[in-house]
Amino acid sequence: MKRLRNVKILATLGPASSDEAMIQKLHEAGADLFRINMSHSSHEMMRTLVGRIRAVEKTCGRPIGVLADLQGPKLRVGKFADGSATLKAGQTFTLDNKDVPGDATRVFLPHPEILEAVQPGHRLLIDDGRLQLLAVESTKTSIVCTVVSGTKISDRKGVSLPDTTLGVGALTEKDRSDLDAILAVDDIDWVALSFIQRPEDLAEVRKIARGRVGLMSKIEKPQALECIDEIIELSDALMVARGDLGVEMPIESVPGIQKQLIRACRKAGKPVVVATQMLESMISAPVPTRAEVSDVATAVFEGADAVMLSAESAAGDYPVEAVEMMASIARKVERDPNYPGIIYSQRPQPDATGADAISLAARQIAETLNLSAIVCYTSSGNTGLRAARERPNVPIIALSPVIQTARRLSVVWGLHCVVTQDATDLDDMVDRACRIAFREEFGKPGDRIIISAGVPLGTPGSTNMVRIAYIGSDGMTGI
Ligand code: PGA
Ligand code: MN
Repeated sequence: MKRLRNVKILATLGPASSDEAMIQKLHEAGADLFRINMSHSSHEMMRTLVGRIRAVEKTCGRPIGVLADLQGPKLRVGKFADGSATLKAGQTFTLDNKDVPGDATRVFLPHPEILEAVQPGHRLLIDDGRLQLLAVESTKTSIVCTVVSGTKISDRKGVSLPDTTLGVGALTEKDRSDLDAILAVDDIDWVALSFIQRPEDLAEVRKIARGRVGLMSKIEKPQALECIDEIIELSDALMVARGDLGVEMPIESVPGIQKQLIRACRKAGKPVVVATQMLESMISAPVPTRAEVSDVATAVFEGADAVMLSAESAAGDYPVEAVEMMASIARKVERDPNYPGIIYSQRPQPDATGADAISLAARQIAETLNLSAIVCYTSSGNTGLRAARERPNVPIIALSPVIQTARRLSVVWGLHCVVTQDATDLDDMVDRACRIAFREEFGKPGDRIIISAGVPLGTPGSTNMVRIAYIGSDGMTGI
């Protein structure tokens, strides 16, 4: 199954998309990888979903990535005696450590460390910013606030603290137990970390994960932007988590940050996902708004690796239509006459490495000779990432003997991943590449491809050669 686009589609699974038939439909419609949101999924459900995704993978014969998204320190207030309370601008309202139902004067905040971290002058944004409080006094047991705007607060609403650096690490107790369960499944490719603030947050998770999953940092706190270079360096991928980012930062700064993060990731050669509200209205309607189509198109024009669906695929009425819509926007944009120029204008310089020099050369040769595909052998995935960083205008086939590599690369721009054994010698390397390019419908007999590989074959990190080859007359051999 060949996708006629470079950008990947990440679809969140949920009540609207948890059975195997639906997961298969979403994959057929264009979802390249799936997100399991640990905020809403039990360990049992997570394991069930992974099993179903792997069953679909087996049926379709294509590697599928699985991302488990940790909730992170998402803060919520406690409950109210009447389910909610009505507040007035200018009045005082207190968050405290008393685990009793709230009223119009106070509510329980079940996060003792936050009570200490918030300082007078800090903003508290409740319910995605619908209610804004300003801290005027803080002690170890309470935060006294003035109501700045908004009037309604109800049970378990989220609290965002844009001005407060939390003393906690990125992992809560729940995250630790979720992460243990995820690693125990041993069949999950990516873990997304919510609300990370500092490079140390990643270092901590990296120690636990020990390379068994890729780490995707969700950028949704202003603190993370202050040390974004170090965070990118320590991450395997980034997510522009526009939902919470748009609450923690002025909403109008989100588009600029999206551009900044996409460029920084392209430079670093790390995949970047643009997420949240991409086709929001399709939760309840079969067609998106013009603005949403334009938003998805923008992410594609910017060269993002992947675009994500949240509630649209997890809980909406039109999950398949939403994936199809994303895929058709992507195909259209990538054929737009302005697309190559926009993508190329952001091309970063190669690093002084064999992998980059070869990736650059492979792209230039492929484009000059109008070849059918670039085929790269990649066992760790690094050569695949560097080939994608060049954003060539010919398809890239990434061949890996390691299924985990192929699955993890499913989030990367332009890579069509195929699992195959390492070549035994140079002839086998050429034959195998040609055979797979033919079988996967990237070329017909007589077409040429370019192959990049490392000699000695099968040695990770040794990419050092390119070879142009013809697909043989039977499609089975290379010349
Ligand atoms: P969430 O993350 O859906 O887990 O909140 C994405 C975002 O905040 O945009
Ligand atoms: Mn979020």
